[in-house]
Amino acid sequence: MKIHEYQAKEILAKYNLPIPRGIMAESVDQVLEAAKKIGHFNLVVKAQVHAGGRGKGGGVKLVATEQELKDAAKSILGLSLKTAQTAGGSVTVRKVLVAEKVNFSKELYLGITIDREKGLPCVIFSSSGGVEIEELARKSPEKIVTLHFDPVAGLPAFRARELVFSQGFTGDTANQLAQITERLTKVFIQLDASLVEINPLVIDSAGKAILLDAKISFDDNGLFRHPEFLSMRDEKEEDAREVEASKFGLSYVGLDGNIGCMVNGAGLAMATMDLIKFAGGEPANFLDVGGSATAEKVTAAFKIILRDSKVRAVLVNIFGGIMKCDVIAQGIIDAVREVKLAIPLVVRLEGTNVEKGKELLKHSGIAIITANELKDAAEKAVAALSS
Ligand code: GDP
Ligand code: MN
Repeated sequence: MKIHEYQAKEILAKYNLPIPRGIMAESVDQVLEAAKKIGHFNLVVKAQVHAGGRGKGGGVKLVATEQELKDAAKSILGLSLKTAQTAGGSVTVRKVLVAEKVNFSKELYLGITIDREKGLPCVIFSSSGGVEIEELARKSPEKIVTLHFDPVAGLPAFRARELVFSQGFTGDTANQLAQITERLTKVFIQLDASLVEINPLVIDSAGKAILLDAKISFDDNGLFRHPEFLSMRDEKEEDAREVEASKFGLSYVGLDGNIGCMVNGAGLAMATMDLIKFAGGEPANFLDVGGSATAEKVTAAFKIILRDSKVRAVLVNIFGGIMKCDVIAQGIIDAVREVKLAIPLVVRLEGTNVEKGKELLKHSGIAIITANELKDAAEKAVAALSS
């Protein structure tokens, strides 16, 4: 689960991390009220959306007067923000953060995430942070250092200090940066986060280290231990298809292709997507209906797949293990009738009662393209696109 910058900053402030004073606002009036509470107009107005790269997309504006503040609020609220992280689309800005402007001399990067290859959490640090970090990662990866740490023991203070010393920081600055690093690793572990990212972490004109931006993503599997954060969920920022799917207990991830996939089991779903690509197609989604898919779940899954207007064909790939193929076939038939499916449907069934299932499909009167094995199914789905 992702949360907004202003929410991440509320959490981090409780851990005594240095955050600029700020107030969330949802209208121009609220922005002006926030400025009144802060007491001056030396502010920054920041779009609150679940995507980074806002600065480059016009979603972050520095102001110095009431008029500039009003103009910035008007231009950002309601803006369709396109950034490098909005995957070709855009997101509408509904909230902004009004925060005290910080004058700084240096922008650093500090992130904590899981290194899946090593199976360990790690700190990623760079003394050249800011909006060009992706560019830096491509061109000068040696300027970004990674430090793994034990998830149970945490990051010992001396290793945090070693990290900042190795990047040329000394004295009081090094002390502050080491302490911030150590605290952020604690936040990461204690909150079951999958990402804590501060970009930029800045050193202001008085030499104080400040977290200018903050991103926190929670590991959904750990969220049950942190019910206090559930109210921070902002469904408007999430993929509408994914929100709907989660209501039915379906694992769904929206993608950019045009072949809708309905598969039972995450491994089989991954293999199906691979084979679609191998056959020259692009999957529209990852969708795992689960090992014990019911007819209702199958219908819900069909509806979610078809909500995506890019979908030109549907591939159903079900292995009947716990569920019997004939039950699934009936589920498919009911669903197709209910949603009045008007695009090609390729079905590959395998497993218990497969013959009964195939018979049902054959006599249903529905135009179903049947396939015998996975590769065959993927190829037929790709071919169906041009039929
Ligand atoms: P992002 O582009 O979505 O990552 O948004 P950020 O919060 O990181 O802001 C983008 C950039 O705006 C930062 O890298 C800074 O250069 C600049 N910026 C943001 N807040 C301030 C501020 O308080 N003072 C100054 N001088 N620049 C800021
Ligand atoms: Mn940033």
